[in-house]
Amino acid sequence: MMKQRILTGDRPTGRLHLGHYVGSLETRVKLQHQYETFIMIADVQAMTTHFDNPGALREHIGEVMLDYLAVGIDPGVSTILLQSMIPEIAELTIFFSMFVTVSSLRHNPTTKQEIEEKGLKDLYYGFLGYPVSQAADITIFKAHWVPVGADQLPHIEQARRIARRFNDLYRPVLVEPQALLSPVTKLAGLDGRAKMSKSLDNCIYLSDPPETVTSKIKTAVTDPARIRRHDPGHPDICTVFGYHQAFNREEIEEISENCRTAGIGCSDCKRRLADKINALLDPIRERRDHYASRGREVREILAAGTGRARSVAVATMAEVREAMSLVSF
Ligand code: ATP
Ligand code: MG
Repeated sequence: MMKQRILTGDRPTGRLHLGHYVGSLETRVKLQHQYETFIMIADVQAMTTHFDNPGALREHIGEVMLDYLAVGIDPGVSTILLQSMIPEIAELTIFFSMFVTVSSLRHNPTTKQEIEEKGLKDLYYGFLGYPVSQAADITIFKAHWVPVGADQLPHIEQARRIARRFNDLYRPVLVEPQALLSPVTKLAGLDGRAKMSKSLDNCIYLSDPPETVTSKIKTAVTDPARIRRHDPGHPDICTVFGYHQAFNREEIEEISENCRTAGIGCSDCKRRLADKINALLDPIRERRDHYASRGREVREILAAGTGRARSVAVATMAEVREAMSLVSF
């Protein structure tokens, strides 16, 4: 039986962080042998907010590649691809944009939140429409599953609706994708904001050295009501406790109890967390160093993956054009 396909990706706007790890990377690594996995470095999508300096994205592409290989994405079974090298995606985006309404894009809750967080004033056409291009990213590869964090759910829903509409209008060519949510769907930022995000500069990066991880965790916001060592804490509103839930599941009962009764202070609690996260990151750092000294091999992995992915995209576009009666003379 043919394996079902997964597609996910990341914007090359910086190195990857722990939010990516729990929200999506960990799931991809686990599932890559069970599903046919496509992972996209979404440089065109990154341009929707970084169009003024596309050259800077090139550097980040290398960093994201290293992060992928470091967490255990196996290029022997997974296909890593660069979005801008597959122009068929842009073509499909144009066809989709004919039947997607502007109001459905304006009402997308994630887009609305990003407009607010990034302080975007005058909306660019490409930014407002990026969920349409994302629908093309997913459907051109006929992906069944998309492992993502909670922020992506509205986009996956939009992609489902677009695929369904295309199939109803023309011919059933596209697969309706489904989101695959991880147990931790949204990791908070060090500043206590709801989402750890590159653009908000509140991240622990997978490539941070141990001392940086430890000192960043020291700055993480905790329960504001817990001022003195003997004040009882409220784990449910503490960012650091949220990190324990994500990275230190074995000890959460005890930490929760000790926080509520002031049995443990915030600095001890943070030290235990930093040790856990550093233990998780150690093998990742090792693999990252290994690939960092093999630039050529890394570029070849991306080129080969992009070539494989493009042939799938070309085949889908032949079916799409045929379904839309866009056949040659
Ligand atoms: P940017 O600020 O450039 O948008 P980002 O940090 O939001 O960057 P993306 O590249 O937009 O990261 O997200 C890639 C994937 O990682 C998506 O599937 C997203 O759901 C997931 N993800 C990102 N941040 C988090 C987070 N804090 N918690 C859980 N999942 C996350
Ligand atoms: Mg984002």
